[in-house]
Amino acid sequence: MNSEWNIRTCTDQCVACQKKFADREALMSRLRFAEDGYLREDFCSACWPSRSQREGGEVSAWSAIWVAPEKKAPEPLKKETAESLLREMMETDDPSRRNVIFILAVMLERRRILVEKEVQLQPDGRKIRVYEHKQTGESFVVPDPQLRLKEIESVQLEVMELLGIPPPPGKGPKPDPGAEHKAAEPPHA
Ligand SMILES: [Zn+2]
Repeated sequence: MNSEWNIRTCTDQCVACQKKFADREALMSRLRFAEDGYLREDFCSACWPSRSQREGGEVSAWSAIWVAPEKKAPEPLKKETAESLLREMMETDDPSRRNVIFILAVMLERRRILVEKEVQLQPDGRKIRVYEHKQTGESFVVPDPQLRLKEIESVQLEVMELLGIPPPPGKGPKPDPGAEHKAAEPPHA
C-alpha cells in the first residue's frame, strides 16, 4: 500500500540474517524513506553494525526489545477508543482523514501511548512525524497538516463526535462549516 501515512510493526526476525528474535532479545530498528514510502527494518544486534547505508534515506534509528507476542483470548467487543479509531483511519487511503489522523496521534502522544521519535521535513515542505507506540513498538508515520488554531478546534470536535463524546455546550458540530459565519448572532436581550 502506498499511503502517505502508515503503521509499521516490528517483525519477528532480523531483516539481514532472517534469524528469529528470541523473547527479550535486544534489537535495532530503523525507518527509511524508500520509493514506495516508509520502510521499517529490524536487525539483530550482530547484523546492525554492518547494515547497508547505500540506500540512504535513513530517517530514524532506535533500539528495542523484542517481546514474544502473548497468546491471548479474543478481545471482548469494546467501545471505540482514540487508539482504535486512529488504527482504523490509518488503514484507509482517504486524504480527507489527514486532519483527524493527526489530531488522534497528538491525543495519544499526550496520553503517553505514542512517543514522538522524529520530525522530518520533506523536500516539498511537508512535515512528517514519526511516533513509536510505547507498548507494541510499532512506528506510526503521520503527516503533520500544520493546522491553524481555528482548524484544530473544529477537527477536535469532529474527533469527539467520532468517539461518541458529547461536545461542550455551545460547541456542537456544525453540519455545514461554510455556513458558520453566515448565521446571524441572536440579538442581545
Ligand atoms: Zn541478523
